[in-house]
Amino acid sequence: MKVLCTNPGAQFYNYQTEIEEGVSNVLRSNSYIMGNHVKNFEKDFSRYIGVKFGVGVANGTDAIEIALRALEIGQGDEVITVSHTAVATVAAIEAAGAKPVLVDIDLNSYTINPLNLKDALTANTKAILVVHLYGQAAYLDDIIDFCEKYNLNLVEDCSQAHGAKINGKRLGSIGKIACFSCYPTKNLGALGDAGIITTNDYVLAEKCKMIREYGWKTKFTSELIGRNSRLDEIQACILNIKLKYLDKNNKQRRNIAENYNSLINNQFIKTPVVRDINYHVYHLYVVYTDFRDQLLEYLKELDILAGIHYPVPIHDQPAYKNRIQVAGTLKNTNLVSRKILSLPMYPELTNNQVEYIIQAINKFKT
Ligand SMILES: *Cc1c(COP(=O)(O)O)cnc(C)c1O
Repeated sequence: MKVLCTNPGAQFYNYQTEIEEGVSNVLRSNSYIMGNHVKNFEKDFSRYIGVKFGVGVANGTDAIEIALRALEIGQGDEVITVSHTAVATVAAIEAAGAKPVLVDIDLNSYTINPLNLKDALTANTKAILVVHLYGQAAYLDDIIDFCEKYNLNLVEDCSQAHGAKINGKRLGSIGKIACFSCYPTKNLGALGDAGIITTNDYVLAEKCKMIREYGWKTKFTSELIGRNSRLDEIQACILNIKLKYLDKNNKQRRNIAENYNSLINNQFIKTPVVRDINYHVYHLYVVYTDFRDQLLEYLKELDILAGIHYPVPIHDQPAYKNRIQVAGTLKNTNLVSRKILSLPMYPELTNNQVEYIIQAINKFKT
């Protein structure tokens, strides 16, 4: 039995008739950019998250860059985030012209450790970009307190957390502004690139809308320095269709995770720690083991493809090494990059596949 690590095509086939009909209608509509499908997606997704405004953009990296620009964070400003994340998180801060300052994570959740924020704080700190990694909320209570105390903007990177909640509230509705990627493998994925920004702040939403299209306030009048990061109608149409099934798909991911949690039984492997107040949507199911490379190879031989998110922390990437600013040690970040493994996780995994993976893992010996 072959098991892929991710499988965005399977989701297309699940909704094939609906998606092909929708896309075909777009093709015949004579409206391909920023039409009704984008408007509907912005309306429906922001309602789903529980905020007033949504701004569709071209991808998740742009969502972060544009959100920071709308907050007027740029040259000379610092944004605190983690090194244990997608490169996109940090690339977006630099694209906005600001300076990323990286701090260490907590070993339970793999998200930013609020105790490290103090080390990173300077007179230039303007925001904390919190990443809700793997599908569960970071330690938001402490981070919110810190932002209030030092008057910082809380920006959420929700690219791995569509539909996730903390204390019953959806992620993406808690910070001043939030950013989502809808890359095909994400919990809400397009069939191409896409992203969306959510906020309750009218002025910020309006600024994001302007920045995503040349800074236009009205057509041909650029009142802000903008760029092009429009969302297209085909992707918006697909996202609108898939949004209807997001809760169902997240439940499916949670069922698979529950099976992994309760049935994986191997002294060398630690399953994820989930906080009671979190509704985890398992974008990734990440185990921790001292024998990571060995386990990865072993699974591969059994045709089970696992992944590593992420094998090289940002501060060790060639483009950032010896240049990126770090506050405190990145001990946990360095440690986990050598110990973590992402097991196959997507709603379309079959019971047989899940069983096969669990049995394989339980038989793993060093
Ligand atoms: C996927 C992802 C992004 C970037 O999204 P793109 O759509 O690829 O630009 C940003 N942050 C995190 C945490 C992600 O997982």
